[in-house]
Amino acid sequence: MIIAIDGPAGAGKSTVSRALAAALQLDHLDTGAMYRAVTFGVLARGIDPAAHDEVAEAAEDMTIDVGASTVIVDGVDATSAIRGRDVTDSVSAVAANPMVRDLLVRRQRDWVAQRGGGVVEGRDITTVVLPDANLKLFVTASPRVRAERRVAETGGDVDQVEASIIERDRRDSTRSASPMTVAGDAVVLDTSDLGIDEVVERVLDMVGDGR
Ligand code: C5P
Repeated sequence: MIIAIDGPAGAGKSTVSRALAAALQLDHLDTGAMYRAVTFGVLARGIDPAAHDEVAEAAEDMTIDVGASTVIVDGVDATSAIRGRDVTDSVSAVAANPMVRDLLVRRQRDWVAQRGGGVVEGRDITTVVLPDANLKLFVTASPRVRAERRVAETGGDVDQVEASIIERDRRDSTRSASPMTVAGDAVVLDTSDLGIDEVVERVLDMVGDGR
């Protein structure tokens, strides 16, 4: 069983993905953490995130281990740092690099092939990485609701967080390499007015007999 989940930052995609993986006893892959890990390694090496060739070369050379609860880059525990401001501000530039995308998409497909399935979340999973997944979901919510959730988790100013969410959405959906779009046959779940439990219940109903 392969479940592919896309959607913008803060829509509840990760929470839904983890809950589904646990309920269905599948492994879970957060591909955003892979782009963040490369960005962490690029910044650690003092490379400009917009320098495509240098970034691609560094990405090939880096050892990245995205586990269930930890992210290790070149032997350094980057679990917290990949969620920090520096990485968050630079990750869209790294993710817009077609050579980095080729490398990570290959690794993501290998991850699924090795396990024979799993729950994979990101921005281009339903459209590019795993278009033949058994179930394709696009999890979204209004920018305001997403900002409020983020602030409840990590603090900050709702207006500022909302502005940065809108800007990251814009960059992710207008880049030329695999922009974030809704696959024609994906199920769109708007979590603005739905609790995560309700969303998970709905998806488990969709999975139905395949469960
Ligand atoms: O999911 P998360 O917000 O951690 O993703 C961080 C960034 O990685 C996104 O803003 C996007 O630029 C990039 N990304 C991507 N393709 C994916 C997953 C993440 O371009 N499949």
